[in-house]
Amino acid sequence: MAAPQHVRAAPLARALRATATATATATASVPVPVPVPAGIKSQGTSRRALLGLSEPQLRQLAIDLGQQSYRGKQLHDLLYKSRAKQIQEFNHVPKAFREALLGAGWSVGRSPVHHAVTASDGTTKILLKLEDNRLIETVGIPVDDDNKGSSRLTACVSSQVGCPLRCSFCATGKGGFARNLQPHEIVEQVLAIEETFKHRVTNVVFMGMGEPMMNLKSVLEAHQCFNKELKIGQRMMTISTVGVPNTIKMLASHKLQSTLAVSLHAPNQKLRETIVPSAKSYPLGALMDDCKSYFLETGRRVSFEYTLLAGINDEKEHAEELAELLRMCGGGYHVNLIPYNPIEGSEYKRPYRKVVQAFVDALEARKITVSVRRTRGLDANAACGQLRNEFQKNPLLEIEPSPSTERTLVAA
Ligand code: SAH
Repeated sequence: MAAPQHVRAAPLARALRATATATATATASVPVPVPVPAGIKSQGTSRRALLGLSEPQLRQLAIDLGQQSYRGKQLHDLLYKSRAKQIQEFNHVPKAFREALLGAGWSVGRSPVHHAVTASDGTTKILLKLEDNRLIETVGIPVDDDNKGSSRLTACVSSQVGCPLRCSFCATGKGGFARNLQPHEIVEQVLAIEETFKHRVTNVVFMGMGEPMMNLKSVLEAHQCFNKELKIGQRMMTISTVGVPNTIKMLASHKLQSTLAVSLHAPNQKLRETIVPSAKSYPLGALMDDCKSYFLETGRRVSFEYTLLAGINDEKEHAEELAELLRMCGGGYHVNLIPYNPIEGSEYKRPYRKVVQAFVDALEARKITVSVRRTRGLDANAACGQLRNEFQKNPLLEIEPSPSTERTLVAA
């Protein structure tokens, strides 16, 4: 039986304080842009990136800068159709407008690709280098749907630089936490994937680096941009959380038609606390009640993520206890099992295939719908945060020298 390596307690309250402090520090140096069009909500700081803004917001910005409203529509096309990366490329608008935008501190809000690797199954991990030199991961996962003759491209997007919650098996948490991502830094991940694959993104999962519910405002703005500007259906998007008190109710009140995924990883509070330290601040009963309310309010079934760790939470008894927990929660759920992806510095082990199958059988025997996540791109450091950690172990540090690991280089 593999013992968990070193499970550090990081109560949620402390993590939430850290998020607030880091966000304040990270944004303190951002120049104050003028003007910010009416209706643009900021995250404690004014925002100067055009990416993520809607057409009405861009029209308002044009008016505020002394232009006619239709110039805002042109900006919209430049951002979301032509995919211009810099204001200097805005050839369709007058030079004076370009200069006014630059003078007011606006930029498109795109970041360069620092590195990208592709696995044999086509899964591609991209590292984007943000303005403050921090690196974030985003992953493109192509799926050919042979039955329908169509192909899907899923973007797994990050919502924070690092993560404050330190789930014991997660590479992102091991690297620490730097700051929340701004909406445009989430939106640009999808654009980077579309450009790499030369294919439109059909699905978005907020399952990259970070805890989306600790940056809900930006996540919701990016979600809206994906839906309205990039035409990605709400039902094609999933927001994944390990559980942050009060946020599931908040999300439910927006009545999105997107899936809520809750990272459970254990069928009882005691075991969950050893795997997910932040669970100490959010008892399992309260979390399950909030999931039930989410289903009742939105009509969308909740998906429970369960990372299977050999000898820790993968026994038949755990599956039976999980089925009982879900039964008490009522209907409207689905279980997604994720066989653990080994990460550096962790003693957890991936369970054997037959153990995973026994877990599936035990759940199905109790009428629980279950799927097993196929491990994609294992050779490209599949687990969250692994590739970033190769280049920048601690998000607060400078970029470290490139490792010499063999890989297929897509872009540099
Ligand atoms: N913070 C959010 C989203 C990020 S992680 C959350 O916890 O839901 C997305 C999913 O991948 C989570 O279910 C997480 O527990 C899982 N995960 C992270 N690292 C993993 C690893 N090494 N092996 C298997 N699953 C992992």
